[in-house]
Amino acid sequence: MSAADLAADLAGAEDVAGDLGGTIAVDEVVPARAAWSAVVPAGETLRIVDLAGNQAVDCLLYRADDVTERYSAPATVVAQRNIFLVAGSRLLSNEGSPMMTITATSCAYHDTIGGACSRESNTLRYGHHTAHQHACVDNFLDEGGRRGLTKRDLVPNINWFMNVPVGEDGTLGIVDGISAPGLAVDLRADMDVLVLLSNCPQINNPCNGFDPTPIRVVVTGPPETP
Ligand SMILES: [Zn+2]
Repeated sequence: MSAADLAADLAGAEDVAGDLGGTIAVDEVVPARAAWSAVVPAGETLRIVDLAGNQAVDCLLYRADDVTERYSAPATVVAQRNIFLVAGSRLLSNEGSPMMTITATSCAYHDTIGGACSRESNTLRYGHHTAHQHACVDNFLDEGGRRGLTKRDLVPNINWFMNVPVGEDGTLGIVDGISAPGLAVDLRADMDVLVLLSNCPQINNPCNGFDPTPIRVVVTGPPETP
């Protein structure tokens, strides 16, 4: 996305969140390869916008006042009996509590089994020359570190907008995205939740179309009642 396109998009800020109702508490562009975190209070909605398309956004969730309770991919998959995250999916914690609910998504589905890229996995998969490339685990450690999280707090994550199809024989793929410019996912917080994002820096597979791009994050309060 060009700087001019991004400026034009930012100028339409109210349009991006206007249909959510409520006041806008956060409206930020997260640069390509960068991390982001915020506490989203219960009842508020986080919208993540894939500005340029085909951008994987790695995500971890923690209970804001007790980070030992955190997102559980297996609990979420088992409860909904499906491996894809879709509209209506409830994102469950390791205690079985709903943390966030996908209230809307214009991207058909999202992944929660592909994991986060790391320098270690990059060197195994793509060769030793990738050892110094920035990765999602670095983002999680940098941004999570500011919130008191350490490597022990990293668990299997969500990959918004990432396409990880599973074949009939169970084979996983990481293939060209199903997302497109402007597609978005809305997540309503069901508790006060610390959201940790890594705008994935991966350039060795098609999860970001080999070209990481910015995303936009908007947090709005509950719709005002008349
Ligand atoms: Zn990544």
